[in-house]
Amino acid sequence: MTETTGGDAASTTARPSDVVDMETLISLCKRRGFIFQSSEIYGGLQGAWDYGPLGVEMKRNVKDAWWRANVRERDDMVGIDAAILMHPEVWRASGHLETFTDPMVDCRNCQSRYRADELTSDVCPNCGQRGQFTEPRMFNLMLRTFLGPVQDDAATVYLRPETAAGIFVNFENVLTTTRRKLPFGVAQIGKSFRNEITPKNFIFRTREFEQMEIEYFCYPEDSARTHEQWISDRMAWYARFGIKSARLRLRPHEQEELSHYSSATSDVEYEFPIGWAELEGIANRGNFDLTQHAKFSGKDLNYYDDERKEHIVPHVIEPSLGVDRCMLAFLADSYDEETDEKGEKRVVLHLHPAIAPIKVAVLPLSRNEKLTPTARDVYARVRSHWMTQYDDAQSIGRRYRRQDEIGTPLCVTVDFQTVEEDQAVTIRERDSMAQVRVPIEGLVDALRERLVDVG
Ligand SMILES: [Zn+2]
Repeated sequence: MTETTGGDAASTTARPSDVVDMETLISLCKRRGFIFQSSEIYGGLQGAWDYGPLGVEMKRNVKDAWWRANVRERDDMVGIDAAILMHPEVWRASGHLETFTDPMVDCRNCQSRYRADELTSDVCPNCGQRGQFTEPRMFNLMLRTFLGPVQDDAATVYLRPETAAGIFVNFENVLTTTRRKLPFGVAQIGKSFRNEITPKNFIFRTREFEQMEIEYFCYPEDSARTHEQWISDRMAWYARFGIKSARLRLRPHEQEELSHYSSATSDVEYEFPIGWAELEGIANRGNFDLTQHAKFSGKDLNYYDDERKEHIVPHVIEPSLGVDRCMLAFLADSYDEETDEKGEKRVVLHLHPAIAPIKVAVLPLSRNEKLTPTARDVYARVRSHWMTQYDDAQSIGRRYRRQDEIGTPLCVTVDFQTVEEDQAVTIRERDSMAQVRVPIEGLVDALRERLVDVG
């Protein structure tokens, strides 16, 4: 993801009524402990968000689902975890020092700051004054800090604006230690930082974020075909983990949008609460990155082909997406408000079981002391297999609703029949609300059957 992220590209078409609005989602996330504003008790910090107890589980699940499909289940992929701090020359080679910039303007009247390319007129959105904007200045989006005790230019380093560079600079290390043959890819998940002028739209655009990136190295003549293959693999991943196909579309970049080194880029766009916008970019980057890093480092970054007896600079396909943006897509996609048979509103996150933060909730029918030992025993059995919650507060109906709202696919209820008669419990499914009774002895197997594709 070398290109700046551009405008939010929200489409001008009206938001269809079945897409949840952002305020509802933000409120749910705060109320239930998915996502909090950073440093909230101090008034918050713009462009940074904290993941709460449910958010951290869900985020981990998103990353695991990606890693599982793109690394563990394939025989042509390996992973790395590079440092956030890198040699400053890396960013000269990659072009970030020169060109990773956005045009910025200030309002002379109220000192508000905007991205020039996001303004639609000369009226300040904050104070309403006309014609008060300064000339646009280019602003580098990399966050800077200093290494060591002396804060001067020689000590300046950057918080990486993308994880991809960590893969390119380790190309030779990975190649020699794994003895890979082309084609092969390297995956990485990690934090990146961009000093966005106007962070906004909840976790859609933030200054600190997490990326999941792949650099897939192939023979130059195979790059177009490999690019197509990655597009279809990535679309299949979204389908596998339950993203609605109607809210996904592929947008190939126009010729004039492409970086000079890229022969093709396609954005996977999702219909967010703010409209259609980029969820993932899949770029054919040619041999630009390896060539640049070879030039600036003075090291040979090529691949020796035993059969062809020649050195090749591989071409690279880069599927790249943000974890936070992906979280937003999963949350928005799964959100639903239904009316039950009593005419009451039921809020449900229809999350795929692999993505849901809690897989199973164990609910004794009441806090009656006869039920507690058995319910605790059931909880202990299930907890060792999956992320499980125990809840015995308030009525059973309200507890089902609480679990629906956080996307828990299965509830297990322990009642008096369990302890007095049959040593069996009820499994209740989130989506269908169907209930089935199973013996405690067979419970783990019965749950496993229903938790499809949970890693
Ligand atoms: Zn103003």
